[in-house]
Amino acid sequence: MIEMDCTCVQKHHSIPTEVIEVSEHAIEKTADILKDYHRIFLVADENTYAVAGRRVEQLLREAGNLSHSLILPAPALPNADSIGKVLMEAGRDRPVFDINAWSQNPDYILAVGSGSLNDTCRMVSYRLGIPYGVVGTAPSMDGYASVVAPLLHGRHKIVYNCTIARHIIIDLNVNAQAPYPLLLSGVGDMIGKYVAILDWEISRERNGEYYCENIADMVLKATAQCAQAAQKLESRSLDAIRATSEGLILSGECIAFCGSSRPASGTEHMIGQTWEVMDVEEGKIPNLHGIEVGEGTFTAIELFRRLYRETDDETLRGLIGKYLPAFDRLEELQKTLKLPFTVTDKDRFVQGILRGRTFRDRYTVLQYLYDIGKLEEYANDVYQTVMDQHFYGTFRERFPDWKA
Ligand SMILES: [Zn+2]
Ligand SMILES: [Zn+2]
Repeated sequence: MIEMDCTCVQKHHSIPTEVIEVSEHAIEKTADILKDYHRIFLVADENTYAVAGRRVEQLLREAGNLSHSLILPAPALPNADSIGKVLMEAGRDRPVFDINAWSQNPDYILAVGSGSLNDTCRMVSYRLGIPYGVVGTAPSMDGYASVVAPLLHGRHKIVYNCTIARHIIIDLNVNAQAPYPLLLSGVGDMIGKYVAILDWEISRERNGEYYCENIADMVLKATAQCAQAAQKLESRSLDAIRATSEGLILSGECIAFCGSSRPASGTEHMIGQTWEVMDVEEGKIPNLHGIEVGEGTFTAIELFRRLYRETDDETLRGLIGKYLPAFDRLEELQKTLKLPFTVTDKDRFVQGILRGRTFRDRYTVLQYLYDIGKLEEYANDVYQTVMDQHFYGTFRERFPDWKA
């Protein structure tokens, strides 16, 4: 259990996660960390099995705690097919088949992978009532310590309430070798937090929404640390990988502390996730979450900059003004990072903003602009600014061979 006393109305925040291990050679500690479980079901895909799963399997087997493993074809997607396979393979028949008995379930599910495998196992864990944990193979999104699972369901993406990982094990050497698009995705998911916290502050001011200053501070500090480390991402320095991994985990923890994704998801996510959903609706595999959120972040920044210039609401100007230096730093970072974009078509770009407003029931600057009758105008007008100032090429141009 991770817990902290707080000055906000909740007074106390806690999550049932027991261990977060982020270190070099962390996977060597897996068997020791999971020593209280004796029938561990390991789930990986072909890629993650090669980089970490095989070693983890060997360690658990040597410790006598492995039940069995399932290796899904790569890349595994967080969809009904993967969940079905994990569910079908989770149990083991008893030595003598007995029509009156249930198959024997594992006592722990261990995901080896990043977003897709973590979300798949989280769902099965929650449905079966079996604890789970994750050996993370890429700092690609903030879902390691999250409590929800966004899953593909036909041509829909549905966010299910689930459980939280009991153990999160991040081996920095493994994560430093992750494919570069996944590293960029992690940074993209993280830089959006400035926007998310600003939206949260605006809603506190305007709607009296619950706000926790300590959680917001923790997220902002982790975001600053992550943005700074991202300058060295391409060199895959362990410091950069550590800052990104820790930032993403902390962001997930804050979601769990808060009981909603409010501290980690605002305008940038609602726009980025709308673009993801548009792909899903068209039967396509969505782009990496953090890549979409990164583009959504620069879009949100331009919406805020323009609003700052034009509004005569002094409170609002004051709130946005606090974040402008951080937005400038992200613009500088983008010159080095060149986070690729996926949406360059103007109609699709504008749709992401307009539909994004109602992506979930959450007050953001998109609702504010809608209420003053300016959302459509802003959405159309910021397109050119975003492309002129923040666009350094498309994802496809940069990574033509990327599969999912
Ligand atoms: Zn609090
Ligand atoms: Zn995210």
